[in-house]
Amino acid sequence: MGKCMIIGCGGVASVAIHKCCQNSEVFEGIMIASRTKSKCDALKEKLQPTTKTVIETAQVNADNVDELIALINSYKPDVVLNLALPYQDLTIMDACLATKVHYVDTANYEPVDTAKFEYKWQWAYRERFEKAGITALLGSGFDPGVTGVFSAYAMKHHFDEINYIDILDCNGGDHGYPFATNFNPEINIREVSAKGSYIEDGKWVETEPMEIKRVYNFKGVGEKDMYLLHHEELESLALNIKGIKRIRFFMTFGQSYLTHLKCLENVGMTSIEPIMYEGKEIVPLQFLKAVLPDPASLGPRTVGKTNIGCIFRGKKDGKDKNYYLYNICDHQECYKEVGSQAISYTTGVPAMIGAMMIMTGKWNKAGVYNIEEFDPDPFMEALNKWGLPWEEDFDPVLVD
Ligand code: NDP
Repeated sequence: MGKCMIIGCGGVASVAIHKCCQNSEVFEGIMIASRTKSKCDALKEKLQPTTKTVIETAQVNADNVDELIALINSYKPDVVLNLALPYQDLTIMDACLATKVHYVDTANYEPVDTAKFEYKWQWAYRERFEKAGITALLGSGFDPGVTGVFSAYAMKHHFDEINYIDILDCNGGDHGYPFATNFNPEINIREVSAKGSYIEDGKWVETEPMEIKRVYNFKGVGEKDMYLLHHEELESLALNIKGIKRIRFFMTFGQSYLTHLKCLENVGMTSIEPIMYEGKEIVPLQFLKAVLPDPASLGPRTVGKTNIGCIFRGKKDGKDKNYYLYNICDHQECYKEVGSQAISYTTGVPAMIGAMMIMTGKWNKAGVYNIEEFDPDPFMEALNKWGLPWEEDFDPVLVD
């Protein structure tokens, strides 16, 4: 069916690449292009004997638009799947515009020097993508990603209007370390040490970090503490889903994680302000990343399950209605299948599916779109087929 260029070769990319190789009918060829080419080559060596997908590799600095353009022109992919870091979103979008190739990512742009993630930078590309006749699909991971597809599906099949959405992200996995992050530590710590926020009546309401706590009993996992966080999909869902009065995002954290994080914050290790150390400028958070366990190494040691989903409350045919859509994913099952833990898995599978939606023409409109702006049905079907089956509950326990 076509060729996909995947940029980045970390935890999420590794899963997406495994999944593309399982799906050779659509992904006839992939190019894995990343900063460290040896990682791309190692994955190619492992996967090429198992798949019909023809794998090529390349070194690329995705901060450099000209390098990207040259590589895209030489490989001529149908779509570029950006699984590097959020800092590279705009340079990769620029290169896609210059070469007229579709673009997919899993996280919205974030400038390196301000830990503030919002869609305005990428939405500013709308007209240029429309004019170029190409699609940018933003946020095709799990959250954002599947949470947006769940919302579009709920809206299409179960509601006339959705008034309240609570997104619940529960990781019941245990990796045995006192402190480690499940995906890129720098991105993860920037996210959880930021102020919390949610949208109510069209306005952002800001909270202190971890100020709002709830306890929820998750199917497949059990009772967990969860905390309200700012999360990027709130911004787009509040605009794209009809009738929204309030939308919140909660993530579970264990006490050990929070105690370590507080301590690291208190001593200044999570700061993104550069400091001088022995004559060299370093960013404390980047240094911390270097000493923490590599998320990719957590796979073999993580046991337990994740449960991520959305609770919707709204109206259907004039009556109140509640609906919970979620996926349960087992860390060890993921490891057996693709050699990664469930956090990378739950992001990498939807990334492959997003690229597939574009390559197969199932999602086909020029411009820059968030995932909930497309027909959710083919994506929901693909989730069941490619390893993230969803479950529904028409009488869920609500979050107060
Ligand atoms: P990793 O740190 O494991 O991987 C990032 C990869 O990008 C590495 O291979 C890295 O190369 C490469 N890279 C970084 N900078 C550049 C550059 N300038 N040029 C080329 N390659 C570069 O991160 P994850 O796999 O954990 O996360 C990937 C993305 O997924 C992130 O944007 C993250 O925010 C997003 N994410 C989204 C989620 C969702 O549900 N929507 C959930 C989790 C993550 P090198 O090997 O040299 O370091």
